Amino acid sequence: MANNKTATIAVRAGINNDKHHGAVVAPIHLSSTYSLTGFNEKREFDYSRTGNPTRATFAEAVAELEQGAHGIVTSTGMSSVHLLCQLLAVDDLVVIPHDCYGGSYRLFSHLEKRGLFKLVVVDQNDSDALEQALAQKPKLVLIETPSNPLLRIVDIKAVTEASQKAGALVAVDNTFLSPVLQQPLLLGADIVFHSTTKYINGHSDVVGGVLVTKDKELGEQLAWWANCIGITGSAFDSYLSLRGLKTLPIRMKQHQSNADAVAKFLAGHPAVEQVYYPGLADHPGHAIARKQQKSFGGMLSFEVKGGVEAVKVLFDNLSLFTLAQSLGGVESLISHPSTMTHAGMDLEAQLVAGISQSLVRISVGIEDIDDIINDLDAGLTASQSGLDNTGPEKKFTDKASTASNSEPGLRVVADNDQQTKPFSFNPALASLW
Ligand SMILES: *Cc1c(COP(=O)(O)O)cnc(C)c1O
Repeated sequence: MANNKTATIAVRAGINNDKHHGAVVAPIHLSSTYSLTGFNEKREFDYSRTGNPTRATFAEAVAELEQGAHGIVTSTGMSSVHLLCQLLAVDDLVVIPHDCYGGSYRLFSHLEKRGLFKLVVVDQNDSDALEQALAQKPKLVLIETPSNPLLRIVDIKAVTEASQKAGALVAVDNTFLSPVLQQPLLLGADIVFHSTTKYINGHSDVVGGVLVTKDKELGEQLAWWANCIGITGSAFDSYLSLRGLKTLPIRMKQHQSNADAVAKFLAGHPAVEQVYYPGLADHPGHAIARKQQKSFGGMLSFEVKGGVEAVKVLFDNLSLFTLAQSLGGVESLISHPSTMTHAGMDLEAQLVAGISQSLVRISVGIEDIDDIINDLDAGLTASQSGLDNTGPEKKFTDKASTASNSEPGLRVVADNDQQTKPFSFNPALASLW
């Protein structure tokens, strides 16, 4: 399918590849093992941890969308990140962004504590800090843009060039945009990876991951490790993700168009203090986003006037939006980073990170835009009128007492910390999670 355009690659992935029956849609192969044709005569596949036809079809499709040489499908987004760690020896240094996905931060920091490699955490928009980190000749540099939840943008091309000059491999977490809106390999990166749980599958019914390498040999090395440590994705998840992938380009168009309308609506709403969306001209990363992204994506966050009390009234008065973490599905989700995704940080640390009590994050779905906006409008209007008659009986729970509702994955940071002291926030790690 050389030279096909994105939508064609996505839709045609696996179509007509069934040599046996001519099934139009790529069949699912659930078999764990495959017969040999004779003594020491293996077929293309022999055991499904090592290779599986359904998984291979999905991997090839994503590799083609990212314009890379080799795709590796893993069981979760985190196992894709973990696979990267196999590239690191004891004396190797890895550089990660200060506002990377919390699970990635947790993995790298805990493995570093066990002495598996060295770690530096930097704000990659701080050129002095980045220069200092690169002067230590890292083996691997991780980039993640846009970041969560404030949608900060990093210049992939510039950071990649500087990192490679210092001798590092560069891996980009492209989960927030998908290959339809951003192609890091074309900006020079060596590896791009995704939590396919989000936009690539897009239907909130699979947890999965994928990595794509620019270089075939590096891809084969990672595929060897994926088989060795047993983190390859299942046939069933690959089948569902391949099915989701077919509508990725058209879904992204609708996510983008809806998010753009929501951002403009919020920016003009009297109940909203500030909107964080790279598509808005006043967003600090707007110019770079315009340069390196095809459009601005479906994620945004905003501050509601009136603090956490107003946020609670807003949430109580929404009927379309679902209060949940995760992102990238067809359905609109709304969350409160302070008590949900970022509850692992204390309040002071959250403020340092720019995460206030009044910050709300939205994964804008692909429902009718009028319904999305009407729902937000009703919630926001209520959030302000509710403040006027807040009596003593109307005390809202604050962050501290709702912290137990935090994302299970993030509580593990505290619970599983090898040290006895509770998880404490390093201000250098602003805007985690
Ligand atoms: C969700 C997510 C991950 C982790 O993926 P899982 O599929 O949950 O393991 C990694 N990076 C980003 C940016 C994510 O949003």
